[in-house]
Amino acid sequence: MVEKLVIVGAGVAGVNAATKLVDNGFPGKNITIIDMGKDPYNRKYSEVMEGFLGAGGWSDGKLTYHTSIGGHMAKYCGEDKAMELFDEVINNFKRFHPKPEEVQCSDPQAEPDFIKPYFGLRLFPVWHVGTDYLHEIGKNWYDFLVNSGVKFKWQEKVTSIDFKKQWCRYKNVEDKFTRGIGYDRLMFAVGKSGIDFGKQLADDYSFPTEPKPVQIGVRFEAPQKHFQKLIDISYDFKLYRKFEEGVSLRSFCTNNNAAYVAVEETYGNHSYNGHAKKDEAFRNNMTNFGILMEIPGIEEPFAWSRELVSKVNKEGTGLYYSPTRKPSTTSEGETVSAVTIGEMDEVREAFQGYYKYIDDFIDDMKKVFPTLGDDYGVYIPEVKYLNEEVKVNFNDLSLVGYPNVHFAGDSLSARGISVSGAQGIYVVESMLEIFKEEKYSNHGDAISW
Ligand SMILES: Cc1cc2nc3c(=O)[nH]c(=O)nc-3n(C[C@H](O)[C@H](O)[C@H](O)COP(=O)(O)OP(=O)(O)OC[C@H]3O[C@@H](n4cnc5c(N)ncnc54)[C@H](O)[C@@H]3O)c2cc1C
Repeated sequence: MVEKLVIVGAGVAGVNAATKLVDNGFPGKNITIIDMGKDPYNRKYSEVMEGFLGAGGWSDGKLTYHTSIGGHMAKYCGEDKAMELFDEVINNFKRFHPKPEEVQCSDPQAEPDFIKPYFGLRLFPVWHVGTDYLHEIGKNWYDFLVNSGVKFKWQEKVTSIDFKKQWCRYKNVEDKFTRGIGYDRLMFAVGKSGIDFGKQLADDYSFPTEPKPVQIGVRFEAPQKHFQKLIDISYDFKLYRKFEEGVSLRSFCTNNNAAYVAVEETYGNHSYNGHAKKDEAFRNNMTNFGILMEIPGIEEPFAWSRELVSKVNKEGTGLYYSPTRKPSTTSEGETVSAVTIGEMDEVREAFQGYYKYIDDFIDDMKKVFPTLGDDYGVYIPEVKYLNEEVKVNFNDLSLVGYPNVHFAGDSLSARGISVSGAQGIYVVESMLEIFKEEKYSNHGDAISW
């Protein structure tokens, strides 16, 4: 009997998982993907977090290619296997890309001397898909899955899962009508927009979890010319530093040339991220990146981060501070949503003393990039909501106690596209092995599904 698989979340992990299954002959009609967002034909550009290809698969497209970046993969399967899985994810993006030859890899080799007294530079390759192509990639990829028989339920929010009865309840986001679906196997891949749901399940079922540190900061934006000498060496540069108190900071997700700040809406609050366009028509010669602090030892890191985020939201949006500049525009020409503030006192207070590390980081950037001066702005806050990581079996990312329920992507321990996609594929590989064994034992011969 072929199992019925339900995937909660049509994001990077869920879509890569379904693709691996149908590529290996698993009947698409046995896969149902439920998502609270929209399909790629109806999803608006501004719907950053929800819908086909999830968050960064729709709004950005820098695929990191290293096991120390973007969350955990190697810890489950080893370095070599992790790299093999990243290759599969990158190949999937190329496969549905209208111009795959434009997918380029940047691979910086050495830390330049001029940053050394102040910062370390993480060196790793990144594949650039290009934001401009993501929507077309999404449509091509979606068509492939639909044509393979995969069933999608759009604008349906899964509200509860009964792991014992193997049953999900979901509610239509518009008509609020509740329905249910049973499964033999479930993949939980709700990304950042579903982290509160993951936490609720972990609490309800008392899953063993591993605590995660707080990751919070700001999105920094400045004219690109100030950073050009580093961009020439490393396009998506990651500056980092660690303080004796255990707090570490890193620049994160750098966008250049045609670089725009993006608003993320999570749990009713705004925070910031960024993306870059490839088309020259969008060039604005700006650079933006997150300055993220990792703060260990905070009790209830998720609740702490959410409270901080709500304190630095005003009039329903985040904050913008600059000594000299004004908020910039989105790629659609609209002003990036933010309340401009003239003083940082309320922000420093909300950060409970931790903002001094960001001040310090910015001050040292001014030394390393001397033309920068006060020619920058910060969007407050940028946040990575890292829920406590549920304990899973390393061979298939299934829950300890529920071997037919698999966690993948940002709901588990990923923080980026490559790792999320890789986790989705990894889960499915273990399932394919089981299904293959069942086929052999049922029929005594290998047959296609
Ligand atoms: C603006 C932006 C830019 C980014 N850029 C990059 C980048 O360039 N490179 C990179 O590596 N990473 C990037 N990221 C991070 C990256 O997007 C995520 O790590 C990745 O998308 C996680 O994949 P996922 O499948 O776990 O979740 P997602 O891709 O977020 O997908 C989760 C899906 O689950 C759905 N969902 C959530 N809750 C429910 C529910 N209860 N019921 C039904 N559906 C639900 C959501 O609608 C969503 O479609 C970016 C993120 C953002 C927001």
